[in-house]
Amino acid sequence: MPAPLALAPADRPAPAFLRGGPKKLLIGGDWVPARSGRTFDTVDPTTEQVLTGVAFAGPEDVDLAVAAARRAFEDPSWAAVTPYQRSRILLQIADVVEANAEELATLESLDMGAPLYLSRWFVAHSVEVIRHYAGWPTKIYGQTAPSEPDQFHYTLRRPLGVVAGITGWNGPLLQAVWKLGPALATGNALILKPAQQSPLTTLRLGELLQTTDLPAGVVGILTGDGLVTGEAVVAHDGVDKVSFTGSTAVGKHILRTSTGNLKRVTLELGGKSPNIVFADADLKAAAAGAALGFCAGTGQGCVAGSRIFVEDSVREEFGHLLADQLAGYTMGDPFHPDTHMGPLASRAHYERVTSYFDIAREEGARLRLGGELADNPGLFVPPTVIDQVTNDMRVSREEIFGPVATVMSFADEAQALRLANESDYGLASAVWTTDLSRAHRLAEGLQAGTVWVNTYGRMTAGTVPFGGYKQSGIGREHGTQVIDAYTETKTVMVQL
Ligand code: NAP
Ligand code: MG
Repeated sequence: MPAPLALAPADRPAPAFLRGGPKKLLIGGDWVPARSGRTFDTVDPTTEQVLTGVAFAGPEDVDLAVAAARRAFEDPSWAAVTPYQRSRILLQIADVVEANAEELATLESLDMGAPLYLSRWFVAHSVEVIRHYAGWPTKIYGQTAPSEPDQFHYTLRRPLGVVAGITGWNGPLLQAVWKLGPALATGNALILKPAQQSPLTTLRLGELLQTTDLPAGVVGILTGDGLVTGEAVVAHDGVDKVSFTGSTAVGKHILRTSTGNLKRVTLELGGKSPNIVFADADLKAAAAGAALGFCAGTGQGCVAGSRIFVEDSVREEFGHLLADQLAGYTMGDPFHPDTHMGPLASRAHYERVTSYFDIAREEGARLRLGGELADNPGLFVPPTVIDQVTNDMRVSREEIFGPVATVMSFADEAQALRLANESDYGLASAVWTTDLSRAHRLAEGLQAGTVWVNTYGRMTAGTVPFGGYKQSGIGREHGTQVIDAYTETKTVMVQL
């Protein structure tokens, strides 16, 4: 494995946001330390150095934040705001995020190791997502229902109240904004709980919100960990909904913990997405799509195409094309201009991802490409392709969440579909073929929330629904579905 591209410490950014002591919690519009005074460190995975201390919210802080969010939700400054004004506030938020895009991208790359070009995309995408949601407040309609002549029946969409958005470390700002957009568009109050590995962009977003007309307290931010802070948020009877992005194991736990007040729960969870290449496909494009599919974000993407299926007759040829593509994936410092893949986001995660190399060997699979680690310190993992696999092996079943893919071959369409669907997950999938009918048959047959045809990883800024089949989640973000997920439908029946 080539040495990762390095930068001298003096050439790495040192944003002013990191100076001035531990970051605080945003409660009721004020930045406050945790009641206990406790803090934790957030670390730069490229250098493994501490970036800054961050307040650690305990249950007493969660109580205060939920009470403050409830007050903000009910206050006329938010509850009585017109749909037009809500739109305008969301547009202001998009503008202020856009105006501070470079700082946000820098903080994201420092905090979780994404290459700067990817962090810039995260921020640009976030801006588009907020603008998309700015269009919603004026378009949320109830219905009139057929009724008897002396009756009038109709429905209203009402906000839920206090929504908690709990997010993962692999796209922190983007995930926060996917929750902030619909929560604010529908008139809810929101508490964000970013992951402990990467809280910085959510905190900076909180500061930026304060420069807009969003009433103070409508958005709160609680940093801490999942076991204490997240748990207290999910168990809290004052929280009406949890929108969660993270692992399937924690998602299941959240569903159990949320039953006290039967809060609404949306779960965006893990994946093990199949990427199916037929012999009639544009193989070069398919190889490029497959490489991007499992290496983008150093493989730390929920939609990673980590199971590649190739038709028998082109297996060898595709293998060479894929290797050519992967040779171009340089690793290194996120701020080096030639870096395609940064480090993994934390040492614990690095240990977990690389443990699968031994697991693969022990299961009798073969590390065909990659799988070796750098001699120099750092959390870098090269693109790794595992073949001679079967669907019952752990490397085929479990989400590895690094730049690691399995490759299997298939004889025909029916076998491809069966192998692809043989998974506990169902987040995304892709088909590469020039046969239009086959593309549509597979689009129908694949058990996945998203099917890409002759492309991989395409995202929209909110126009199409996103979510998972099976253990990849419950509910959908985006699309028209998301409005249902952030509102109650109320039926009104009037005697005339
Ligand atoms: P994770 O470990 O499940 O953590 C996600 C969030 O949940 C973090 O903020 C975490 O806090 C918190 N949390 C942990 N335990 C909790 C508990 N008991 N109660 C409440 N909250 C708790 O996931 P991750 O490792 O950060 O993210 C990677 C996973 O997210 C992968 O499985 C990936 O596929 C999935 N993901 C899914 C989507 C999607 O849209 N479907 C998108 C991106 C990522 P701390 O980290 O601070 O402890
Ligand atoms: Mg960090």
